[in-house]
Amino acid sequence: MIQAEIITIGDELLIGQTIDTNSAWIGEQLSLLGINVRQITSITDSEEHIIETLDKAKQKAQLVIITGGLGPTNDDLTKDTLVKYFNTRLVENKEILSSLKQKYENFGLPFDDVNKAQALLPENCIPLPNRRGTASGMWFEENGIVFISLPGVPYEMKGILQEEGFPRIKKHFNTPKVIHKTLRTIGIAESSLAEILKNWEKELAENNIKLAYLPSPGFVRLRLSAFDATEQTEKIITSKVKEAYRLIGEYIYGEDNQTLEQIVGELLKNNGKTLSLAESCTGGTIAKLITSVSGSSEYFKGGVVSYANEVKNSVLHVSTEVLNEYGAVSEQVVRSMAKNVCKLMKTDCSIAVSGIAGPGGGTEEKPVGTVWIAVSYNGKVSAKLFRLPYNNRERNITVASNFALNLLRKKLIQ
Ligand code: AMP
Ligand code: MG
Repeated sequence: MIQAEIITIGDELLIGQTIDTNSAWIGEQLSLLGINVRQITSITDSEEHIIETLDKAKQKAQLVIITGGLGPTNDDLTKDTLVKYFNTRLVENKEILSSLKQKYENFGLPFDDVNKAQALLPENCIPLPNRRGTASGMWFEENGIVFISLPGVPYEMKGILQEEGFPRIKKHFNTPKVIHKTLRTIGIAESSLAEILKNWEKELAENNIKLAYLPSPGFVRLRLSAFDATEQTEKIITSKVKEAYRLIGEYIYGEDNQTLEQIVGELLKNNGKTLSLAESCTGGTIAKLITSVSGSSEYFKGGVVSYANEVKNSVLHVSTEVLNEYGAVSEQVVRSMAKNVCKLMKTDCSIAVSGIAGPGGGTEEKPVGTVWIAVSYNGKVSAKLFRLPYNNRERNITVASNFALNLLRKKLIQ
C-alpha cells in the first residue's frame, strides 16, 4: 500500500486559533483512494521546522502533502523553504501571471508586486492551478517521492486536490480500486446490530471485505471497504447490502453521504406533502436540520418554538386543562401540538416534540431524557415516548431531533 504523510503548516494551528481540518479531509480522501496515511504533523511557519519535517517524512512516505504558508506576505515561508529544500530557484510562470492579472481585474483590484510574487514558482515544480484563489498548488518529484504543496485555505486546498491533485495521484501511483459502501442506521445500538449481523459478517471477512461500525449519538454507520477490489468483490458487496436490508432494513434510513434530513426532504417532495413543526425541548433544531437542505422551501412551511406553556396555549391552542393535568412533557400535549400546528400552518404533516433535555429539570416520573414525539400525517396523529439515556443537554436535543425526523420518515414510507 502507498504510504502518505500530511504536514500542515501555520502558527495559528499550534496555538489553537485554527483547527486543522485540512488533515482530516485529506486523510479521508486519500483513504478513499486506497492510500495509507501513516502520519499527520502540524508545525509552525519556520524554515528549520519545515525542512526537518520534510526530511523525516520522506524516509517512510512515497507521498507527502503539505498545506499552508503559501500567502504572499512575509509570515508565509513555505514556498521559499521548498526552493531551498529542492535546491532550485523561483521563475515567473507566464500562464499563472496572466490568470492572476485577470482575477484582479475581475475583482476590480490593483495588481501590485506583492500579487505578482504569486506567479513566481519553483523551477522544478509542476504548477497545480488554483481556480479559487491566488496561491498555486505545486507538485514536486524527487527520488521517486511526490511532494504536493497547497494553500492553507480549506476551500482552495480542496478545489486544487479535486481538480488537479487527485487525478494526478491516481495516475502516478496507479492506485488500486477501492470500494466503500456505507449503510446508515438510526435507533438501534451498535451491540444489537452486531448481534443480528453475526453471521452476515463472516462472509465479508472471507472475501477480504472490511466492516467498520461507526457510532454517533442515535446513529450507527456500517461501512464496508474493499481494497484492490475486483468485479467479483463489487458483486459480493451488492449482494451483502441487499441481505443487510433484509436483516436490519427497518433501521436503515440511507446510504453513503445521505443525511436523514435530506432523505425526509426527498420523501416529502416526492409525496407532494408539506411540513410544519412544533418544537419545545429541541428549540428549533429540527427546523434547522430541515432548512439545511437546499430546496426545502418546496415542502417546509414553518415552525413554532413553543417553549413556554403560555405559548403552547396561546399560539398552538393546547388547552390549559390538558397542560395542567398531564404536564408539558406528555402524550396528550404533543398530540395536541402536532394536530394544531398542522391546522395553523395548513400542512399535510407535522412533528411535535416536548421533553426534558437536562441536565436539570428531571423528576422521578419524568427523568432527564424523557421525550414525547408526535407526528401528524394526513390527519392522523401518532405519538411515541423515548427515554434517552443521556444526561447531556446537547446530546438529548440532537438525538430527539433525529428520532423525530425518523418517525416522520417511517410514516412517509408506509
Ligand atoms: P495560509 O495558506 O497559510 O496563508 O493559510 C490561510 C488560512 O487558511 C489561515 O489563516 C487559516 O485560517 C486557514 N488554514 C491554514 N491551514 C489550515 C488547516 N490545516 N486547517 C484548516 N484551516 C487552515
Ligand atoms: Mg499561514
